[in-house]
Amino acid sequence: MSLDFELVIKRTARKKSIGIRVFPNRVVLSAPVWTSDRQLHALVQERSAWIQDKLQAVSSVTAPTPLSRDGGTWPVQGVWVPIEVTTGSRGVSKNASGWRIQLPSPDEASIAKVWDRHLKQLAVQHLTNRVENFANQLSVQPSALKFRRYSARWGSCSASGTVTLHWPIIQAPDWVSDYLVVHELSHLHHFNHSSAFWTCVESIMPNWRAARTWLRDEGRWMLETHS
Ligand SMILES: [Zn+2]
Repeated sequence: MSLDFELVIKRTARKKSIGIRVFPNRVVLSAPVWTSDRQLHALVQERSAWIQDKLQAVSSVTAPTPLSRDGGTWPVQGVWVPIEVTTGSRGVSKNASGWRIQLPSPDEASIAKVWDRHLKQLAVQHLTNRVENFANQLSVQPSALKFRRYSARWGSCSASGTVTLHWPIIQAPDWVSDYLVVHELSHLHHFNHSSAFWTCVESIMPNWRAARTWLRDEGRWMLETHS
């Protein structure tokens, strides 16, 4: 069984029945001591539709409010990360809990610009890795990989094999951006949306429907261009 979340099993003598709690990318089972791993995995399998629904609900990511001189929070790979803004020479670095933006004289416009550039760097790094990973699994090789900000689509795959990804997808949870990568790479096998294409997507991404729904219902703001 392959899971697209971390499964944590806690056995306790106090428990008489199995409880399931769902957190972003993580499912926690609290179970009586006498339960076996096999039994718990079977339960996860049986409840997988319910678990996927819950995972989707908890990983909800809405449009962030612009960062101010006091910083703020921003969704990165589906997790809200605290962002600190300080005065100093221009740059973005990691701090204990998230990121620190440093600017000689921070104002909203320059903060937005620096953060946007940083987010794009993170996206290129992460998505390039994911493309390599899934290209291997699908035995395909894009002729080129490009990143851009689209306004009405998430990605594309050209007839010559160039895969282009909407880099702001880095703000979505990993299982959603993974779906985009798998979708575009699957076009290297099937240059259409035939059932053979979807079978290909499904072979490594059984929950592709949830990801597609997430993009349509919850991810729309990521397509909006902001200054
Ligand atoms: Zn497509």
